Amino acid sequence: MLKAAFPGSFDPPTLGHIDIIQRAAGIFGELLVVVAENRQKKYLFSAAERAEMIRQLTKDYGKVSVTVCDTLIVDFLRKQGIKLLIRGVRGMEDFSYEFELSLMNKALDSSIETLFMTTDPEYFVLRSSSIKELASFQGNVSGMVPPLVVDALREKYRTNKN
Ligand code: ADP
Repeated sequence: MLKAAFPGSFDPPTLGHIDIIQRAAGIFGELLVVVAENRQKKYLFSAAERAEMIRQLTKDYGKVSVTVCDTLIVDFLRKQGIKLLIRGVRGMEDFSYEFELSLMNKALDSSIETLFMTTDPEYFVLRSSSIKELASFQGNVSGMVPPLVVDALREKYRTNKN
């Protein structure tokens, strides 16, 4: 039973993220979605909020669990006994960034393998940062994120004028 991890910010989770989670869950015996909590970064949603949204969105997939990580991902994976790291790739720009990141992780721990999954063409323009910007102007994001996230974004930008 191969166990894999899918780390990311997921601020907020998009249909592109959920598609990768669903497809990876169809391949691996277990998939751990790792919500990054990096003190240097400013997030719209707290780590607990991001994790809870992903839990709700993946509760029917069975093999998916969600956790928060505030340390180096390779240290976290070592503790969990996971050697496979999944990353989604939308295009060349993502690929060059992800490629370097995978080499860095490999240098930190040579037992970690990064596997890239290509985005579904339907989702390749979806990016959390652009979706937040659109939502902040009350733009329609319903084709980009699940309904639960549409509501959460609406609520955030109603109470928090970020
Ligand atoms: P981070 O901001 O920490 O790099 P993200 O939350 O943006 O991570 O994304 C987590 C992972 O999901 C990354 O590997 C990213 O490339 C991938 N991803 C993001 N959006 C999409 C999408 N629309 N289709 C496929 N993969 C995606």
